[in-house]
Order: sequence, then structure tokens, then C-alpha cells
Amino acid sequence: MNKLLEIKGLKTYFYSDDGVVPAVDGVDIVIHEGETVGIVGESGCGKSVTSLTAMRLTPGKVVEGSIKFNGKNILALSDHEIRAIRGNEMAMIFQEPMTSLNPVFTIGQQIGEAVQIHMNYSKQKAKERAVEMLKLVGIPRAEQIVDEYPHQLSGGMRQRVMIAMAMACNPKLLIADEPTTALDVTIQAQILDLMKELKEKHKTAIMMITHDLGVVAEMCDRVIVMYSGKVVEESDVISLFTNPKHPYTQGLMKSVPSLDGEEKRLYSIQGSVPIPGSLREGCSFAPRCEFAMSICKQAMPRLEEVETGHLCRCWLHSTDQGGIQDEATAR
Ligand code: SF4
Ligand code: MG
Repeated sequence: MNKLLEIKGLKTYFYSDDGVVPAVDGVDIVIHEGETVGIVGESGCGKSVTSLTAMRLTPGKVVEGSIKFNGKNILALSDHEIRAIRGNEMAMIFQEPMTSLNPVFTIGQQIGEAVQIHMNYSKQKAKERAVEMLKLVGIPRAEQIVDEYPHQLSGGMRQRVMIAMAMACNPKLLIADEPTTALDVTIQAQILDLMKELKEKHKTAIMMITHDLGVVAEMCDRVIVMYSGKVVEESDVISLFTNPKHPYTQGLMKSVPSLDGEEKRLYSIQGSVPIPGSLREGCSFAPRCEFAMSICKQAMPRLEEVETGHLCRCWLHSTDQGGIQDEATAR
């Protein structure tokens, strides 16, 4: 499989009066053509900033690293060049479609805009494409809906419109940031099915950003778990679910969905994600980790391949320091 997106050693920092926040702190991510990769973690882990940086939309500053997409050096492109890629070869859908859709334009105008810009379609052809896309994402009465405004549609329908917009130019990569979080469970399942269908039909690669491991199990080929601006575990979906190695991942696995099904809470992990950079030394998960050892507070472990294709950043699994395994098993 060819590499479609290759992020190497990425550091995206935010600067404020209170200091520097390394929101993304040395992240490597590869997404191959047609592959669906889940980026998992609680909010504040750096998932969204990573994806926004990949599209050159981050409000933070890239201080180090490289991003290659489809052979192009994203960070070196001119604004004009990046605009030609965004919404075309690389498209994005967000959690809250109401904030991403423009209330004063019709659905048809908004879907049509991308194809007019990127594919040089006439107004008429763009509207036909919009109708075609609305049908593709399962919106009934597409010929009528195309002339309606976002507020006239339900949340689930608006999310379908967002997907139609994102898919209108046949992107090679779709970045989906919590695409179903704001929706109720039934609609959620429908949207995931739709995305699965589209990716199979069009061979679109997907970067699926989510805090929901159910979504990962359903959709993804590979998973990257992020914590406090760093990748802490990475593997194919099956080994992650059958053999999660990092204590943070194990905690996420134990998370219990609330009874109304609306939100998954991380009952099993006490505390919250530290502001990246606030802990100067050691593993950033140490304050919440039930396995923390003395070394964990002194040095940050490397992301190491602990089994073929399975990477983990944890002293429990590290080969770097003799005796750590023993200390761990002695507990
Ligand atoms: Fe826990 Fe230590 Fe592993 Fe960090 S390195 S996750 S503190 S055991
Ligand atoms: Mg986010």
C-alpha cells in the first residue's frame, strides 16, 4: 500500500501569555491509500490539532516536523496550492455540522461550491453534482432539499450534507473529527454505515478522530492512541482490542457508556489529561496510572515496537532499562 499521508516528528505549539503549550509534541502518523486510521484519546490529547495541522488549518505554530500528502510537502506549499488541495484531495467533516454549514446559502450552493472551484463545473453542472451527492448519502427528496437551507434539516441530515460536501470532489483522504458525536445512537450508526459504504466504493482513506472506541472497532483498520500531545500506542485494530498494552488504552477500553447512550465516560481513569507540557519530566500519564513506578516520574519512555506492528510508549513494555519489567511484575 502506498503512503498517502506521512506526518513525521510533528510539533505544533501554542504560545500565550501563560507560556508554551506543546499541543502536538513529536507525532508520527502514516495513513496509506484507502486505509482508515483511528486517532483516539480524550479531548485535549492533540488529535484535532494534529489533523488541523495536516490541513494547514491549525491556529498553533508548527515548530518541527514534516507533513507529506500524496507526494507534496504540505508545510512548504503556497496558500494558493494548499487551497487547491483542501476540500478537493483532502476533505474534512466536523462534529457539529451547523457551525460548518453556512446558514445563508442553500445546501446545493454549498455542495456545488467545492466542485465549481476544484473541478471547474458550471453552475448547472454543480447543482446536478449536488443532487447526485445528496442521493449518494441517502438524503430523500434530493431535488427538493438541494434548494433548502441548513436550518430546514435535522442534525442527522445536516451531517449527511457535510459528508456529501466532503465527498463531492472524490477526496483521497477524508478527515473526520468526531463525526457522529453530536448525533443520537441510531443516526450515529447510519452515518458510520454510510461512511463505510463510501470508503469501500471510492477507496477513500479516512483519518477518524474519536474518543469512542466503539467507532474505532466499527470503522478502522489501524489505531493510534494519543495522550497529552504524543502517540502512546499504535497497532492494527484487532491487536489493540485483544491485547491493549498501554495503561491509558486499557483504561479507555474499560470506559462505560452512560445509560442514555449519549456520552461515553472514562469512569476507569481518574483525573484528567494534563495540559501538554505542564509535566516537565517523565511519562505524562503517570499521575493517573495505577502502574506508575519511580522511573515513570523521571523519564519519558520511547514509542517502541513491542510486537510486530504494535507500538507502545510505556516503561512496562520498554527494552530500554534493565530491571523495569521485574519491578513491574513485582507489584
Ligand atoms: Fe504508567 Fe509508567 Fe507506563 Fe506511564 S510509563 S503508562 S506511568 S507504567
Ligand atoms: Mg477535538
